[in-house]
Amino acid sequence: MQKALIDPFQRKIEYLRVSVTDLCNYRCGYCMPEQGVHPDGHHKEYLSYEELARIIQVFVNLGVTKVRLTGGEPLVRKRLYELVAMIKPFAGLEDIALSTNAHYLEREAEALVLAGVNRCNISIDSLRPKRFENITRGGDLHKVLAGADKALAVGMKPVKFNMVVMKGTNDDEIEAMVDYGIEKGVEIRFIETMPIGPAGVSMMDQHYSADKILKRIKAHIGSDLIPSTDRSDAGPARNFHLSGTHARIGVISAVSDHFCASCNRVRLTARGVLALCLGQEDAVDLRTPLREGVSDSELEQIIVAAIARKPERHFFRENVHNIEFRQMVQLGG
Ligand code: SAM
Ligand code: SF4
Repeated sequence: MQKALIDPFQRKIEYLRVSVTDLCNYRCGYCMPEQGVHPDGHHKEYLSYEELARIIQVFVNLGVTKVRLTGGEPLVRKRLYELVAMIKPFAGLEDIALSTNAHYLEREAEALVLAGVNRCNISIDSLRPKRFENITRGGDLHKVLAGADKALAVGMKPVKFNMVVMKGTNDDEIEAMVDYGIEKGVEIRFIETMPIGPAGVSMMDQHYSADKILKRIKAHIGSDLIPSTDRSDAGPARNFHLSGTHARIGVISAVSDHFCASCNRVRLTARGVLALCLGQEDAVDLRTPLREGVSDSELEQIIVAAIARKPERHFFRENVHNIEFRQMVQLGG
């Protein structure tokens, strides 16, 4: 019989987000402290590709069909395509996606696709080079756009852009981003700032609601947005077609409208901690038992017991000021 991970609220867990590092070459204000995160300890703190692949294999045995590689910045870790090639043959794994800032994507995209990555999400909060550099504290917009073009050229499909909308910082670019998405054939996803980690909490005064974003887009295109009926790839996003175009946009309104009832995911950190909810502390260490030599079936039991502890929902809205216990770079978004 096919195994499945079902949590206490009858949600089927089919999606594993894997942060392969908590380091990043950028320093987005809502995500990273200016000085970066200091990896406390040796590189042995991080799971090797072999260890990551073994945990992913057990999840796939338990019914996970989709894996997203994220970070920190996943492409900071050398030869990420090797991990992709290790997990690609797992029977039942249908989808290997990547979340990246795209700084190194032009160089890596082809090898990643050959190894088995089929799609990617790219963070891009501004189309103005100087502003982009300020938001990311040093990022290079030209490299990012070249990375996006390369991803499209080598056949990643879809390529989506994630824009965190911040009041007074980049909210004046919502319309320009919609136009860019239409021109390039990429879906733009507008994300509300989330109060995760000290960096995220510190940016909540720039929170800009998804409803306001949608109103702006409607006014810009001069017609209604057509809600997408395709839920297969939506996750926490509400997606819309732009009439008269082939383009789609999405909004992720984690704060103003929580999406927990349909949550189908858990997160594995680069140090082997299984985080059960983006906005709650509940987590289980998988690295210790792994390194103590547990069998696959013992690892399965640990994961099944962890899923039984998955919280019902986050409380971003209620606790906007105190979700500082973990950083987004560890959780991988
Ligand atoms: N470095 C990669 C990137 O930037 O796409 C992957 C990791 S990043 C943590 C994943 C996503 O989380 C990005 O789209 C980023 O914009 C988003 N993110 C990080 N901190 C956030 C926050 N406080 N609120 C909303 N989104 C956030
Ligand atoms: Fe790095 Fe991505 Fe966080 Fe920006 S959002 S600091 S690119 S991990």
